[in-house]
Amino acid sequence: MFSRKAAFLVSAGLSLSVFSCADSSSPAPPESFSSPKIIAADGSELELPTAGIYPIDGEKVSRTGLEKVCKAAGVEVSPQAADGIWFGENIFGAGLASVVFFGRYASSLDEDQWAALASIAADPESSSAALDPKKNSGIFSPHAHEASRIPESAYLDAMTDQIADDLALERGISRNEAFRILYSSGVTVETPLRTDVQSAADRVYSEKSTFTDSYSESFPQSAFAALDYSGNVVAMTGGNNGDLAYNRAWRTLHPIGSSIKPLSVYAPALIDGRIGFSTLVDDSPIPELSTDQEEWPRNYDRVYDGSITVTYALRQSKNTVPVKLVIEAGPQRSFDFLTESLGFTTLEPADVDVPNMALGYLSRGVSVAELAAAYQVFGSGGAYTAPSFYTRVTDENGDVILENKRQPRQAMTGEDAWIMDRLLYYNISKDDGIASAARLSDGREVIGKTGTVDNGYGQDSDRLFVGGTAELCAAVWIGYDQAGASIEGVEYKPPATVWRAIFEQIPWEKAAFDPDPDVVEAEFCTLSGGLACDRCPSTETGYYKQGALPESCPIHS
Ligand SMILES: [Zn+2]
Repeated sequence: MFSRKAAFLVSAGLSLSVFSCADSSSPAPPESFSSPKIIAADGSELELPTAGIYPIDGEKVSRTGLEKVCKAAGVEVSPQAADGIWFGENIFGAGLASVVFFGRYASSLDEDQWAALASIAADPESSSAALDPKKNSGIFSPHAHEASRIPESAYLDAMTDQIADDLALERGISRNEAFRILYSSGVTVETPLRTDVQSAADRVYSEKSTFTDSYSESFPQSAFAALDYSGNVVAMTGGNNGDLAYNRAWRTLHPIGSSIKPLSVYAPALIDGRIGFSTLVDDSPIPELSTDQEEWPRNYDRVYDGSITVTYALRQSKNTVPVKLVIEAGPQRSFDFLTESLGFTTLEPADVDVPNMALGYLSRGVSVAELAAAYQVFGSGGAYTAPSFYTRVTDENGDVILENKRQPRQAMTGEDAWIMDRLLYYNISKDDGIASAARLSDGREVIGKTGTVDNGYGQDSDRLFVGGTAELCAAVWIGYDQAGASIEGVEYKPPATVWRAIFEQIPWEKAAFDPDPDVVEAEFCTLSGGLACDRCPSTETGYYKQGALPESCPIHS
């Protein structure tokens, strides 16, 4: 099975590997543009390509097409000149424009497509309509908005995208005007990108063995985004196996399955005082929502344990309990928390529904970066800062063009955040936690949650893992570009394994999360959820708000 992108390219008789190699002898960018200087967190400089990203092969492209585009742009008719034409935003070169607007290489464009490219070259402002999936006229790819403008770096692609949006909003100008400012002479962008984390991610994503042990070249796509606990995005990867044509970590949205539960179900219920660490909840299907043929909600393993503690329900990723908790407070409560406190920007009104909020089946989905950013709150003492890819943009005189103004805001109290942190820690550290694959060999504490999406035909289509150490949190998505395509027929490694492979290679200093001083630790009985006594056969450490400790074990005391 091929990904959607691969299907296009294979039909054009081309190999995917072409996507990963940029021509080092790139022509100069168009005269009125110059590449901004990009500075990483450690002070190192990064290249931002502006032309010839997919160089035009003069032997293979349509001569008449090339003429149309070059004449429309007012440049000489040559492949080299076509490589430097501006097609709006930061789409430089007919080769990149062809991939972005049509999802195929320039060598396979037909004459109508060349004519459409020529009209954008003549009026780059018209690119905005071609990139808008809602305004798509049929000639442009409906996935144009997901295509990476800088295939070599999902991070820099997202960074330029965010700067353009922020600058356009702040100055009341179009995105294309914002790109003109960013690509004007002498601009410098300071970013929080960590080259040590990014290079670890790049290494892991370039190795096929990260994703499969099979001999087959067919395995699911993947994306990765990592942030610190102040909202700074430190690394991002938009695809594996050299297929970076789409930025699957930033521009593509995904359903997130059970990885939504801590955000939309357990955190709001804890904040509302509806649950505590070891509160007993009912793991059973709901008769009114079930039929004779099908019980609902259905747990992944079809096992129902009856009365269980919250920590056990979460670490076993039960579906019954989140559905009941969302019904109890209404799905609007979950939706409001996700959009107002945790910064999700792509949820739709239709997502105010029980399966969406309890089980992560979303109308459009969310980006890997926003998912990772939401999990920040569990390691930051409850503070949420929207993901940011830059700190400052300055002009040739050092004057500030744009400054990142994203500020932390308290999504939940430090107590609630710490209790959630420990719940998510048990997902990894307890032997019955289904995310134990993310344990690090160096013993650093890891918090996290898995997610699996059923495509509606009983097959898995997407899998996720979101996890954090005391210093960074990150999300990994695995699936095909084609929505709902099953990943069950191929051999692949789960996202928690990919996450671990990257985090094992990241330098670190801090091994454990900072506890909240006001949260009380107490042993609870795993059977009753009550405070443990000498006769309780099985106990664990629980974490409680002051004044919210459970009663003594009613079964054994
Ligand atoms: Zn007991």
